[in-house]
Amino acid sequence: MNAPDKYLELINLTKKYGEVTAVDGISLTTGATQYVCILGPSGCGKSSLLRMIAGHEVVTSGDIVLEQNNITDLAPADRGSAMMFQSYALFPHLSVRDNVAFPLKMRGVEKSKRHGVAEQFLERVQLDILADRLPSQLSGGQQQRVALARAMITNPQIMLLDEPLSALDPFLRGKIRSELKALQRALAIPFIHVTHTQDEALALADLIVVMNDGHIEQAGPALEVYNTPRTEFVARFLGGHNIVEAEKGKVSIRSDRIKIGSKKTKNSLNATVSEIEYQGSKIVLLARSERDLEISAEIPDSDFFQNPIEVGESVLLSWKADDAHLLAG
Ligand code: ADP
Ligand code: MG
Repeated sequence: MNAPDKYLELINLTKKYGEVTAVDGISLTTGATQYVCILGPSGCGKSSLLRMIAGHEVVTSGDIVLEQNNITDLAPADRGSAMMFQSYALFPHLSVRDNVAFPLKMRGVEKSKRHGVAEQFLERVQLDILADRLPSQLSGGQQQRVALARAMITNPQIMLLDEPLSALDPFLRGKIRSELKALQRALAIPFIHVTHTQDEALALADLIVVMNDGHIEQAGPALEVYNTPRTEFVARFLGGHNIVEAEKGKVSIRSDRIKIGSKKTKNSLNATVSEIEYQGSKIVLLARSERDLEISAEIPDSDFFQNPIEVGESVLLSWKADDAHLLAG
């Protein structure tokens, strides 16, 4: 664990497409073995940022430093990075083995040698027995693993993944998500994983970077970002938070910190229940305050069923002062 803590540095990185500024002066430093998730809504510049790191997009201004080498203007193959795309981008006419061996072919490695190495990497993703198949003869999850093996075969110093799970069904998404995390730990290299899915980022990331409109809203450990969103944007985008107008400005309060109370305090408000949603282990209750604010409360199922509430009822919603975090702006 004596790896440098400045592994990848983005310095004032900007990408413009004509009039459109897709990435607007981003600066970020990540550690040597961090799982980093870039999280943000569609169109906020995530892919542009990742493609600049990969070298698939020309940088408009700023620098990219990887392990103290300035790689801003290097060709993709000379950067020590590997990229995995949302669509996997497998060659349909090549076997699984030849797909995985492809980067070695580009580097002039002869056939029997590259096939040998490809088979080792296919073993790692448990696909060695399917090496002769074509991509079209594989399931989505298997294609995803082929793409991963192909990305790993060059022994990258950093792995770049653009929405790698979005083409999978929810069950496979969860399964491959944990495989990705295990793989990142085994390789002990940083993964930079772009996603617009909050729970994916929370589940995977050592470092979450929330992007909005080309800039970083907040970067920090998952726990920190979830517990103390810096801005209203972050709180709303993560979900599971309420924004309440307090004396000194807007505060965020996690929905699972809102309780149904009986004593009116300065950290409570009266509201009318508008919706009750059963979610298995918890109940999500939506209520409208007297000042027309929508509040969501997550209540453990056991608590709820001890004291069931119905739509239309008036409730007093309360929270602890410590659970309200002042938002910037
Ligand atoms: P995300 O991956 O977060 O959805 P993108 O990086 O793909 O965001 O896009 C950011 C912005 O840049 C969007 O407004 C998009 O329309 C624009 N954009 C992306 N690629 C190009 C391109 N090749 N030419 C022009 N505009 C682009
Ligand atoms: Mg994208």
